[in-house]
Amino acid sequence: QANEKESMYLVSEFAQKYFQDTMLNSDEGQAIGYSYFKERGFTGDTIKKFGLGYSPEIWDAFTKEALGKAYNLDYLDKTGLTIVRDDGRHVDRFRGRVMFPIQSMSGRVLGFGGRILTNDKKAAKYLNSPESDIYHKSKVLYGINLAKQSIAKKDNCYLVEGYTDVIQMHQAGIENVVSSSGTALTPDQIRLINRLTKNITVLFDGDAAGLRASIRGIDLILEEGMNVKVCTFPDGDDPDSFARKTPHDELVEYLDANSKDFIQFKASLLMDEAKNDPVKKAGLIRDMVSSIAKIPDRIQREVYIQECARIMDISEKVLASELAQLVSKEV
Ligand code: ATP
Ligand code: MN
Ligand code: MN
Ligand code: MN
Repeated sequence: QANEKESMYLVSEFAQKYFQDTMLNSDEGQAIGYSYFKERGFTGDTIKKFGLGYSPEIWDAFTKEALGKAYNLDYLDKTGLTIVRDDGRHVDRFRGRVMFPIQSMSGRVLGFGGRILTNDKKAAKYLNSPESDIYHKSKVLYGINLAKQSIAKKDNCYLVEGYTDVIQMHQAGIENVVSSSGTALTPDQIRLINRLTKNITVLFDGDAAGLRASIRGIDLILEEGMNVKVCTFPDGDDPDSFARKTPHDELVEYLDANSKDFIQFKASLLMDEAKNDPVKKAGLIRDMVSSIAKIPDRIQREVYIQECARIMDISEKVLASELAQLVSKEV
């Protein structure tokens, strides 16, 4: 079993080198992959730092290369780098995509995200390696290997939505940043961060669409006893596009000035929606109290009750008794 996993790591690391080499040293890779990243504003150093690559537009280029180097077909299938078609033929999963290797805390290659090169709305933009014995999506954070030292040093972790957000933030000189790669945050991912810092700042895409859905997931972070802040970006921007056009000092300033305590942020956001609607307001009080109830520390809960009472313009007593009910139910 241990040997089997090691074999899967080795073939994944070979794939990373193959995609990287194909991008840097083939005409197709240079013309399509490298120029794609350049157009996104990534420097050569950044491209190297993240081990980015390119998978050629050929059915089985990688699979053939790996078999030629005596890698076992079994492990190619198990990592999902190769897929078996209905006709029994083994072909590459990733073709004609720019490649983002996904690495463990210690830097081992676990899987890949591959992006199409167009902004064609019909095609799935990103294709990811499947879940495997070495790639457990719910336990992995993109960028953690390059962020861990900075997270500990800054005693804070920025959490972003996508691969390119992590990369562009690094290039802008902010290295304490990881991504859950588009999926909802899991308790295991939060615990990974919790080992390094108690403080998370969630950076939302400026499209606001997923904002309400995303803030639900944040209760999970409170449950781990961590402090959560949130920061939003101007409409249409995500951390990638914003960091790209903002000088380092200004970016740091923006993040500091716009990071708000999550509970306060949520209370204000919901209040804006519910202002003159008593029914909605009652619902939001329950919603807020259920978030606060997730916080393990009693004194901290108390402080939040006071602040929420102020933001929502209701009495502390009402909130406190609502909270007492919820907390007593849980024990
Ligand atoms: P880009 O800037 O390259 O267009 P993004 O990171 O801004 O990408 P979003 O649409 O904001 O993309 O999605 C955030 C993250 O969600 C992506 O980085 C990727 O990890 C994941 N994701 C997006 N679309 C898909 C998809 N079709 N299939 C799987 N994962 C996806
Ligand atoms: Mn988005
Ligand atoms: Mn985005
Ligand atoms: Mn983006």
